[in-house]
Amino acid sequence: MIGHPLFAVFFMLGAILFCIGIAMRLMLYWRGQWDLWALIKGVFLTLFSFKILKLVEIMVLDGILQRRLFGQDKLRWLMKVLIMIGYPGILIAGHLKADMMPQFEHFSFLTRIFYAPFCDFYFFRDVATPSLSTLDVLFAISFDLFGAMILMGEFIAIYRRFVAKTVTFKTSPGDIVAVNLLGGWFILRFFCEATSILTYSLPNSVAQYWFVSFGLSKVIGPLGLPWSSINYPLWSVAGLFLGTLVGFIPYNKKLWHIITIPVIMFINLMPHEAFKPGARRAAIPLSIKDLVSLDSCVKCGSCVSVCPVYAETQQLETTMGGFYTKLKSFVRKAYGLPMMSLSASQAKDVLKDYSEYAYLCTLCGRCSIVCPSFIDTKGTRIATRRFMVEKGQYPPSMDRLAETLDKVHNIIGEPSGDRAMWVQALPEVPQDMFQKDKAKVVYFTGCVASYFPMTKRIPQSFVQILEKTGVDFTLLGGEEWCCGFPLIAAGMKEKADAAMQHNLQKVREKGAETIVFACPSCYHTWKEECKNEIALFHSTQFIKKLIEDGKISFNEKKVKVTYHDPCDLGRASGVYEPPREILRAIPGVELIEMKGNREECKCCGGGGNLEMVRPELSAALAQAKIEEIKATGTEMVITSCQQCVRTIFSNARKKKIPINVMDIIEFVSKNMK
Ligand code: SF4
Ligand code: SF4
Repeated sequence: MIGHPLFAVFFMLGAILFCIGIAMRLMLYWRGQWDLWALIKGVFLTLFSFKILKLVEIMVLDGILQRRLFGQDKLRWLMKVLIMIGYPGILIAGHLKADMMPQFEHFSFLTRIFYAPFCDFYFFRDVATPSLSTLDVLFAISFDLFGAMILMGEFIAIYRRFVAKTVTFKTSPGDIVAVNLLGGWFILRFFCEATSILTYSLPNSVAQYWFVSFGLSKVIGPLGLPWSSINYPLWSVAGLFLGTLVGFIPYNKKLWHIITIPVIMFINLMPHEAFKPGARRAAIPLSIKDLVSLDSCVKCGSCVSVCPVYAETQQLETTMGGFYTKLKSFVRKAYGLPMMSLSASQAKDVLKDYSEYAYLCTLCGRCSIVCPSFIDTKGTRIATRRFMVEKGQYPPSMDRLAETLDKVHNIIGEPSGDRAMWVQALPEVPQDMFQKDKAKVVYFTGCVASYFPMTKRIPQSFVQILEKTGVDFTLLGGEEWCCGFPLIAAGMKEKADAAMQHNLQKVREKGAETIVFACPSCYHTWKEECKNEIALFHSTQFIKKLIEDGKISFNEKKVKVTYHDPCDLGRASGVYEPPREILRAIPGVELIEMKGNREECKCCGGGGNLEMVRPELSAALAQAKIEEIKATGTEMVITSCQQCVRTIFSNARKKKIPINVMDIIEFVSKNMK
């Protein structure tokens, strides 16, 4: 560092601090779960596939143009876009200019990095001619333009946080330091340029292109200060700000997410298998993806405003942002610096406080859609439940669930052999009870439809549709086990694996090419775990195909209906249109959408095992859903999930609210010719 000007030295010191911070972060991730080979394979499979085009699209539309924020909050969108364009812009312009300047020719690439932000110090000092090249003019304009954009973005951030107070989470001292460093460096930079203009008495014809600094020089010029004595110290202070800013990045969540956002975008495109736990026993029972995700939360509060659980509890800890903050601080304290780590008993006490929060979530995924840090919030919530199970801090109802499933393979606790009892209530009971040795299609019924009297009309209607349309299908009957989703949601994925393998084996024995599900959670679980082997359809996709093939046609039915998107079918599986297309195919049906529809649909309260942990909270969510349905003024709510039907109907009945809830299968069956 000897021989370099102070501003470059400060930047270098900041870079050293940055590298130490990065090393500490990586050491923490190292202690998580990973399988090196699976990770490398995942990176290669993503890099050398069409997914890379998706990554470019996401980086431009979501990373730079902030597509997600546009519909949410225009001022916040503007703030982010200004910053997201300004920073890369000024970085790229600075480095391009530094690469072209003769003053830096003899520097190595690395050294040039430390001089690039200060290249105008040399440019102003050494500019020999009053006429600039076109490239010089372009650089000058772009520096000030990008710098001004960043400053405007910073001012909007300050306005939102301290004046309009639109930010949900409390501002931490670290946030204040980060904002001051970010803004301070650019303000100082403009002053540095202005003093350089004054020091070297640049003619207006040259200086005008640094339009912000030029204007500033006109304002401060009349002060008549000894600009040549001020110039170098001021550039050095700017270097100190920049060095501190860079060095602070790995230690502050707001700044660190600048690094993690592109990483998260890439990680989200990687196959799940890349993050499977390795053979070694990890100190932190969370994958690298989960740890990076936790680190990427900036407590922006977007998830708070859409969370149906928060709407009822008003407890920030139930939201992703609030929960992550708690867990992140625990992970740092428990696994951070060895000498300062929590003892095992302290860690247990802290986790006890968090354990219920991990389960106060319906896994509806509404927060995933709005999170500007692109965190797979649902996936991370499930991972944190696994973490809680590993640490032995989870609600006892999860153990009861696991015991029941272990004994009878359904969540209700009824005998396994009774799974297809609903067939006996059909007007015509087939001799084989719809259980053939071989069939092309398996109808995987799911626990709720199989056992709850309230929902048994769904499988009854579905087998009638399949029969009428001549589909060669079979049930697994008593051989069908729970798909494993409730165990995955409980954080007990390992226990679910046996059930999934059993079901897959039974389907293979039937020689089936297709499985059709009426339950979105079963469908989603199979899609995640058994992809590529067998064609998987949700009932709405299957019925839509039967309609398109001319196997189903409808009588006229004059009715106004609304449609509720089940979370695991809509947000989790991306199936929004098939149910709507079915409804549109029925003459006379008028579909009136709820305020929150498709991606924005509000959860009915029946997901994520919430009902097993806090039934009254699940019921409150259902009531909120019922209010939303009533607001449409329709005669009926149609959905495509037996659990949604059960949750909405049972809660409406408890409050004596007359509401007609029906699964789309039953609606189709009633109205088909
Ligand atoms: S989880 Fe995402 S949306 Fe929620 S506070 Fe964190 S960054 Fe914001
Ligand atoms: S998944 Fe749904 S319930 Fe859970 S935190 Fe996100 S928005 Fe709230």
